[in-house]
Amino acid sequence: MRTDVQTAEPRIPKDETDTMSSSTVITNIAALVTNDPSLGDNSPLGLVRDAAVVIDGDRIAWTGESSKAPATDNRLDAEGRAVLPGFVDSHSHLLFAGDRTEEFNARMSGRPYGAGGIRTTVAATRAASDEELEAGLTRYLAEALRQGTTTFETKSGYGLTVADESRALRIAARHTDEVTYLGAHIVAPELADDPAAYVDLVTGEMLDACAPHARWIDVFCEKGAFDGDQARAILTAGRAKGLHPRIHANQLTHGPGVRLAVELDAASADHCTHLTDADVDALANSRTVATLLPGAEFSTRAEWPDARRLLDAGVTVALSTDCNPGSSFTSSVPFCIALAVRDMGMTPDEAVWAATAGGAAALRRDDIGRLTPGAYADLTLLDAPSHVHLAYRPGVPLVAGVWRRGVRVV
Ligand SMILES: [Zn+2]
Repeated sequence: MRTDVQTAEPRIPKDETDTMSSSTVITNIAALVTNDPSLGDNSPLGLVRDAAVVIDGDRIAWTGESSKAPATDNRLDAEGRAVLPGFVDSHSHLLFAGDRTEEFNARMSGRPYGAGGIRTTVAATRAASDEELEAGLTRYLAEALRQGTTTFETKSGYGLTVADESRALRIAARHTDEVTYLGAHIVAPELADDPAAYVDLVTGEMLDACAPHARWIDVFCEKGAFDGDQARAILTAGRAKGLHPRIHANQLTHGPGVRLAVELDAASADHCTHLTDADVDALANSRTVATLLPGAEFSTRAEWPDARRLLDAGVTVALSTDCNPGSSFTSSVPFCIALAVRDMGMTPDEAVWAATAGGAAALRRDDIGRLTPGAYADLTLLDAPSHVHLAYRPGVPLVAGVWRRGVRVV
């Protein structure tokens, strides 16, 4: 899909045909996060001190001590700064129009607000042109890239008609391989009185139109959205069309979402804020990743997900932005890392792992989220001597350079 389509500016290479063939070594890296525990300090981060990394074409060719770096065509001195894998943002909603400034302002000011939440964005998105939707997406992607995000997933879910959902996915697929069909975000307003008819549409005609443009299918499994039986029917229908499940689960209340994610071998259960011990056990005994989205709790003044509980149980945890105009309008993975460390019981090392290797696991990818030979050369240079500064210096623009597929893009 989509490799025949031109990427909008700023130009971000999407595939191997776009990459340079020369090799570059980055030397004098004070702390290199590889996410390979066989390297460096043998922690999960595989932290190598006084390190170098060699980029050959679009891939990592070598990592190790700076003094042992092989000869290459080009050389760059990191001057004692830190390098880590580009962030993998495995959960965002970037195909939308309008914003919800007034809603946020009212919520933060303790004032009641009468507008319709997601429905407000659905109305604006339906009214927008293709060009407006793509311009918004391009702008948020450039914003995320400047903050070190080199892979992102994004979803439909603000169209809720066959034509509007499929066009959102078509536009998204021009910019990423990680495209998710979320027709089951809420019941479309015009079918609010007949949710069964909407589930039929989502699993029928809308799925047929959307499946060719997507890799994933997602459901908002929550009171007021879709219950466990509806979610199972939607995800099972998607799987029959070749889409793999991921679920918005247990965000606002306890519910069946997490256990359904494990039952269906979903790549990820996202949010995981309200969990029973049985939910945590189910995740720990599965390969379903728990993706935590602290931007949502920050922006709604809600209870934080308990990352410590999940990590101590052995669950694989990812951190993502959930970037969307209603409940988490941030594209900044560093901001989410800082929140996770400050308020969710994660160590800085765990949070950085979750935002890189964890995000890759949530997308079932092993070619990103690590800096070891064979992985894509997606990496971030910080204007800091350590990855810990991402949490230690919250809100500071520390990203000094970003390479995507071997090409320096920031
Ligand atoms: Zn979401």
